[in-house]
Amino acid sequence: VTSRTSLPAAERRLRSQLHQLLSQAEGFLHGSLIEMSRRCGNPRCRCAREDALKHRSLYLGQTRSGKSSMLYVPADLEATVRRWVEDYQRAAALLEELCAQGRERVGEAKTRERERKRSKRAKAAAAKGKSAGRSKGGGGKTTRNQAPKPS
Ligand SMILES: [Zn+2]
Repeated sequence: VTSRTSLPAAERRLRSQLHQLLSQAEGFLHGSLIEMSRRCGNPRCRCAREDALKHRSLYLGQTRSGKSSMLYVPADLEATVRRWVEDYQRAAALLEELCAQGRERVGEAKTRERERKRSKRAKAAAAKGKSAGRSKGGGGKTTRNQAPKPS
């Protein structure tokens, strides 16, 4: 029933931002970037002298179905991988905002349903009030106390 044009403006805007991101991003990566520094073991290497000179390398840490993994990021891909991780986070944030819009729409439907039920109950109560008045006047349903036994 819901056509795209009948969507709230906020949701349309979020969708078009997400759409744009999906079509323009080079890639997406989910995880956290972890920089590690280590000594290579060569006693003549600069890394052996000072902590600040240790070899650093980048990893993408991930936890999938309870298992954590570290994906080594080759040095020439570091900037790219950082962008992919950022673009995933932007996409996830947009999707989360879209979900908030969805929750809002469910909440509004719930309110409408409650109002419908309330007005239905009000109508029913009004109708009942009328019929109660009628039965008081005479021809109502009084089957239960019929035929009293003569004493
Ligand atoms: Zn070294």
